[in-house]
Amino acid sequence: MKLDPQTTPDGFPRPEGNTHLPCDSSDGLPGLFDCMHCGLCLQSCPTYLATGLETDSPRGRLTLLRAEMEGRIEAPAIGNALDRCVQCHACEVVCPSDVPYNSLLQGFQERHPDLKTTQRLSYWLGSTRRLRAISGLARFMQRKSIQALAQKVAPKKLQRMLQAIPQTPTAFHPTSGASYPAIGKQRGRVSLHLGCVDSNFFGNVLQQTVELLNQEGFAVSIPAQPSCCGALEAHSGAGAVGRLRGTDTLQALSGFDAILVTAAGCQAFLHQLDPREKVLDPLEFLLEHGIRSELKPVVQQFALDTPCHKQNILGTPDAALEILRNIPGLEILPHPYADECCGAGGIAFLREPEMTDAVGKRKAAALLSVKPQVVVSANSGCRIQIEASLRKQGSDLKIVHPISLLHQSIFKK
Ligand code: SF4
Ligand code: SF4
Repeated sequence: MKLDPQTTPDGFPRPEGNTHLPCDSSDGLPGLFDCMHCGLCLQSCPTYLATGLETDSPRGRLTLLRAEMEGRIEAPAIGNALDRCVQCHACEVVCPSDVPYNSLLQGFQERHPDLKTTQRLSYWLGSTRRLRAISGLARFMQRKSIQALAQKVAPKKLQRMLQAIPQTPTAFHPTSGASYPAIGKQRGRVSLHLGCVDSNFFGNVLQQTVELLNQEGFAVSIPAQPSCCGALEAHSGAGAVGRLRGTDTLQALSGFDAILVTAAGCQAFLHQLDPREKVLDPLEFLLEHGIRSELKPVVQQFALDTPCHKQNILGTPDAALEILRNIPGLEILPHPYADECCGAGGIAFLREPEMTDAVGKRKAAALLSVKPQVVVSANSGCRIQIEASLRKQGSDLKIVHPISLLHQSIFKK
C-alpha cells in the first residue's frame, strides 16, 4: 500500500513542507507512525553501535520505511539498509512507544522478497535428504587442505559459508518416529524438535538431551517432522512458507507434556506462532520439574552468552544460568556484552557479511577480554557466528550448549 504524500493517514491535507505524520495504527502498517524519534533504542542496537550510522539504527530504518510507504523513496533504495539489521529485537524491548519494529521489517521483506535467495533457501530447507547431502559436503569441505584451496579459488559467498561451518560438526538422525523410554519411574513424556542446523551440525546436543531426559525419568518421542521449523525462511522474506512449515512442525510435535527445542531461534519462532503450545528449551523444562540426579563437579570457568531470542522475544534469559550455577566447580565470568547480539541474524552472515563481521568482532573481543575456558550459548546460529568471529581473532575457544555441561556433570564417572 502506498500512502498519499499530500494527505495524512487520516485523510487530512498535509501542511506544505511537513513530512511528519501523526501517530496512526489504522493505516495497514500498525505502529509505523508511533516512532517519536526519541533515540532511546540507539544504544541497544548492535548495528548502530558497530557503525554509528543513523541508517544502521532502528530509528533510521523506521524513517526509511515510512518514506517508502509515503512514496518518497523506492523500495530498492532502502533494501540494503534494512538487510543490515540482524533482527535481534533489542530495540523493541526499550522502545517507550512499543513500535513493533520487527513486524514492520518483516512486512517490508515479504512485500519485496529477494526471490532468488528465498527460493534457494526453501529448496534446501524443504528436504531432509538435501540437507543431509549439503551438510555431508560441508564436512568434506572443512578439511584443512580443501579449505586452503577454497580460500584461493572459491567465490566470496562460498568462502563465508565454509568459515561458518562448526569445527566439530556432529549429526543426529534417529529413525522416523523413534522414541526413547524413561529410565526408572516415568515422570512425563516430551517430544523433541530436531531442526535443520542442530540435526546436521550439533547432533551431540540432541543426543545428550535425550540421554539427560531419559535419566531424569522422561520418555522422549521424536515424531516425523518437517526438516526445518521455517524460522530461517520467515526471517528472509518468505514469511508464508516459513509459517506453514512452523505450523506443520507444531502439529507433528504436539500432544506431549512439552515440545522441547534445543535452538533458541527455533523455540522463539514456534512459540510466537502459537503461544498456547508449551515450547521449551530442555533446561527450562528440567528447571520446572526439578533435577533428581546428583550433580558432580565440572571445574571450568565459562562465559555465558544469552541468545537475543531468549532475552528479547521469550523473556526467559536465566534458565541456563540457574541450572549451571548449581553445578559444583563451574564458575561464570561476567562479560561486558553478554546480552548484546552476536550478529548471527538468520542468514544475515551471507547477505550482509561486513555488518555481521563488525557486530561479531565486538562480541569476540568482549568474550576474549574475560579469558574464559569455554563459551556457553543455547542457540546454534549464535554458536556458529561466535565461533567464526573468535576464529577471525585467532582464538580456538570452544563454544558449547549449556546442555553439554549439565550432561557432563550428571554422567561423569
Ligand atoms: S525508541 Fe522507539 S520511539 Fe524512540 S526512536 Fe526508537 S523506535 Fe522510535
Ligand atoms: S532488531 Fe536489532 S539490529 Fe535491527 S534495528 Fe533493532 S536493535 Fe538494531
